[in-house]
Parts: sequence; C-alpha cells; structure tokens
Amino acid sequence: MIRIKSEQAIQKMRVANKIIADLFTLIEKHIIPGVNTWELDKLAEDFIRSRGAKPAFKGYTIPGLQPFPGTLCTSVNSGIVHGIPSKSVVLQDGDIIGVDVGTVYEGFYGDAARTFAVGEISDEAKKLLEITEKALELGIAQAIPGNRVGDISHAVESFVRENGYYCADDLTGHGVGYQLHEDPQVPNIGKPGRGARLKSGMTIAIEPMVNIGTNRVNERGWEYFTMDDSLSAHFEHSILIKADRPEVLDKG
Ligand code: MG
Repeated sequence: MIRIKSEQAIQKMRVANKIIADLFTLIEKHIIPGVNTWELDKLAEDFIRSRGAKPAFKGYTIPGLQPFPGTLCTSVNSGIVHGIPSKSVVLQDGDIIGVDVGTVYEGFYGDAARTFAVGEISDEAKKLLEITEKALELGIAQAIPGNRVGDISHAVESFVRENGYYCADDLTGHGVGYQLHEDPQVPNIGKPGRGARLKSGMTIAIEPMVNIGTNRVNERGWEYFTMDDSLSAHFEHSILIKADRPEVLDKG
C-alpha cells in the first residue's frame, strides 16, 4: 500500500534527511587514505544521535542474516551496496566508497547515499560517479504527479545504458517515510508508462546503482559486489512528489 504523507510527516522527514546531508558534509572531510570504514561508522552514529535521531540501518533484519551491524553501509570499489563497516577495510588513494545512510527522526525515516572519491581517482572512476549522479537527477525529474514509477526507472536505465554502463540487477529504490522500505518499489530498470501512478504527497527513495562492467551481482551475505569486480557507484535521495517540482528532502 502506498501511503500519502501529511505535512507534519513530511516536516519530520525533512529533518531526518537534512541530518544525512549534514553528515555527508562532515564525513567527506574524513574520507581520506588510511581511514577505516569502522571509524567512519562511529563518526556517523555519534553525529546522528547528537542531532536527536537514530541510525535506521543498525539492527535492520532480513531473513537468514544477522541484524545489520552498522550505521552506514560502506561499499568500496566493486562493492555495490550494503557493505559492512570494518576496521579491516582501510581506504586507499584512488578508491571510491559508496556511503548509504538511514535515519529515524521522531518516527520518520530518511535515506540517502553518495559515492565519494578517496584522494585522487582515475578518470574512469570520475566518469562513473558523474553518470550515476546524473542518472539520479534524471530519475528525480520524472517524479511528478501523473507519471508512473516506470518513467523514473526508464529515465535511469536509458541514460546508464547510453553511457555503456549497467544498472545492478535486483536492487531497487523504494517508498520511504513511515518505514525505511515501503511501497512502491522503484526499480532502476523499466518501461515508461508502467507501474504505480505517482501522486502528490508520496515520498520515495530513488537510487541508481551503476556498474562499469556488468549488471550481474555477487551477493555475499549482506554485501553486494559486481560479478566482474568492476567499479560500482551509488547515489540516492529521498524525494517528495508534489505539483510544481519534486523536492529533494535532504535539501529541504
Ligand atoms: Mg534506500
């Protein structure tokens, strides 16, 4: 069931998402060669709690796996999503790291992701980040009342393909707000004019996960990697659908 949000709910979601935007500003300064992903996770948890919110991913459960242990998902290089922060994952110059964060503020959820460069990265990696972020923008531009979910999916997929890259199989965006994941699913692959109709007051997380070499994913417990070990990038915003234009909730 797709739930339309009240103005009060939306206001809380803005706060939940703004905390993530501010966290990204902070964490960017700490994403440098030599830092480990556990340190980034600790920093993120302390920051989120200092703002009166709670980490939404920590303790998240899906059947067959231990509860997710981190505040962040930290996915390095060929990591697509759901990487577990660890003292043994030390960032190196030239790496890319996808950082995905969920927050809960007074019962309402925020969810966003960004892929950061560690030191100086290759032109190939820079292009992947640019294309993935642009694919997200194009997807967001389709999130208007009267369109369908498939219009978003198609905008993301077609731009990624035109650039010779691949959307990762089986990983999708989603409704967000009362829960971290709610209806509708928002795939990165799809046909225009298909799927649920978008209405004002719906809030969805759009999140292209783009790989250089293959759409195929290698699932190892929580963590997803590209099957061919090529680089993968991930950008995500939670957005509010409204009459004039989509609102990116972490920009408030
Ligand atoms: Mg998400």
